[in-house]
Amino acid sequence: MAEKEQTTKSSKQRMAEYLKGWIPYRYKRYYTFIFVTVFALVIPFIKINGAHFFLLNFDHKQIHLFFTKFDMQELYMMPFLLIFGFLFVFFLTTLGGRVWCGWLCPQTIFRVIYRDLIQTKLLGIRKSIKNKQQEPKDQMPKRILGFLIWVVLSFVAAANFVWFFVPPEEFFQYIQHPSQHGVMIGTIFIVAGFLIYDIVKLKEDFCIYVCPYARVQSVMYDEETIQTIYNTERGGHIYSDDQEVKLVHSLKELHEKEGKDAECTMCNACVRVCPTHIDIKRGTQLECINCLECADACTQVMGALGKPSLITWTSYSAIKEHRKPKFLRFRTIAYGVALTLALIGLFWMGSKKEYMLLNINRTTQLYKIKDNGHKVANAYKFLFQNTQREPHRYYFEVVSHPEIKIQRPSAPFKLGAGHKMNKVVILYTTKDIIKDKTKDTPIPIKIRAYAVDAKDKISVVRDTIFVFPRYDILEKKREVNKK
Ligand code: SF4
Ligand code: SF4
Repeated sequence: MAEKEQTTKSSKQRMAEYLKGWIPYRYKRYYTFIFVTVFALVIPFIKINGAHFFLLNFDHKQIHLFFTKFDMQELYMMPFLLIFGFLFVFFLTTLGGRVWCGWLCPQTIFRVIYRDLIQTKLLGIRKSIKNKQQEPKDQMPKRILGFLIWVVLSFVAAANFVWFFVPPEEFFQYIQHPSQHGVMIGTIFIVAGFLIYDIVKLKEDFCIYVCPYARVQSVMYDEETIQTIYNTERGGHIYSDDQEVKLVHSLKELHEKEGKDAECTMCNACVRVCPTHIDIKRGTQLECINCLECADACTQVMGALGKPSLITWTSYSAIKEHRKPKFLRFRTIAYGVALTLALIGLFWMGSKKEYMLLNINRTTQLYKIKDNGHKVANAYKFLFQNTQREPHRYYFEVVSHPEIKIQRPSAPFKLGAGHKMNKVVILYTTKDIIKDKTKDTPIPIKIRAYAVDAKDKISVVRDTIFVFPRYDILEKKREVNKK
C-alpha cells in the first residue's frame, strides 16, 4: 500500500514537474470561444458613421462591410469578397487542417457550452469532461433543466444571428410588434429550433454527416498540413496502415508486437475524451474536428511518465523528419499571394465606392428629328438614387460631347435621403456630328451625374449612346422645308 502511494506520489510529482507551465489546448480554445462569442454578440451593436461591421439588410437593400455602407446595386465588390472568403478557407485548411472546426465553429462552441459547461460543470449530469463517451442517463429533472437553459441560449443565439440581417436598433422595435414582422420572428424560431435539435440530438453527427466543409477539407491537405496526429513511431502501431484492422488490444499485445519501446500505455484516455467518438491512434479521420482534447489527455498521461505527448498538433512530414512543421511552403505562399491580391482588389473596389446611383436606359425610339431637320433628340430614362443620409440636389452633364445638350430636365432636382427617382431625359444636338449617308450612327457618350451641393464627392460617370440619323434623311428634311 505504502509502495503504491509512493509510486502514485512520484508519478504525480513527475507529472507536475513535467507539465510545469503547460497550458492545455482546451484552455486556449476556451479563450478563443469567449472572444468569438463576445465579438459576435457585441459587433452588431457597434456603428461607425451609421454603418455596421457586417450587415446584409434586405429591408433597406443594403450591405454593410467593415463599417461602410453599400447599396445592393453596388455589389461589384462581391466577387472579390467571395474570392477572398474561399481563398481564406483554402489557405487556413492547407495550413492548419480543420482548425476552424475545433477553434471557431459555432457548432463546436455550442456543444462545449451545452455538454461541458451546462451538463457537466453546472449540473453535474455528466461525470467529467474527460469522458465524452457516456451519455447522461436518469437524473431527469437536471437533464430537463439543462435542456431548458439551452433552449433560452438557442433563442439568444438565433436573435444574434438575425442581428446580421436586421440591425439591433430595428430588431428591438420590430420585436414589439411580432404580428407585423412574421418573417423575422419565423426566422428566429426556425434557427432556435434547429440549434436545439442540432446541439441536443444531432450533436457531433452534424460535423460528421451534415457539414459540407468536413467532406471537402481533406482534399486541401498536404504532407505539411497541421493536424492532430498520433505518433506511431513512438507509440507503436495500434491499427493497420489502412486503418481497417485493430492490431493490438492491450499493453501486453502491444509490447509483444512492437517491443517494449512502444510508449503508448493503451490507457485510452484519448478515446474517452473524444467528442466525435473516434480513436486518433487509427490515423487521420474525417470525423476528427481538431479539438485537440486527445492531445491534452495524452499530455497528462505521458507527462506522468516524464515524456512528451504521443498525440500532437503537427504535420506528418514533421513527425517523419523529427522537426517542426513548415508553415512557409509553395502552397501556403501561393495562397498568401492570391489572398493579398484579392485583398488589394477588395480595397481598390472599396475605394471606388460611389455615393449615388444612376442607371441609364434608352427608350425604344432611336431618335427624333425636329426643327425642320436641324435638331436631333434622343430620349432616355435615368434612375437616380440618393444613397446618402441627407437630401441632395442632383443634375448631370454630357462630358464627352459638348455639342450634345440637355433639353429635359431643365434644372437640378431634389432627392431625399435614400430616395430613388425615375427621370425622363432628353438630349439633343443642333450640330451635324456625323455625316454618314449609309446608316444611323450610335455615338458613345459619357454622362456625369452629380449632387450639385457636393460635386466633388458625390458624382458618377456612366456610358451610353446618342443615335445620330443617316445624314441624307436630315438633308431631305431640310430640302423639303426650304421649298
Ligand atoms: S481525435 Fe477526437 S479528441 Fe482528438 S482532435 Fe480529433 S475530434 Fe478531437
Ligand atoms: S492517451 Fe496517449 S498513452 Fe493513452 S492510449 Fe491515447 S495515445 Fe496511448
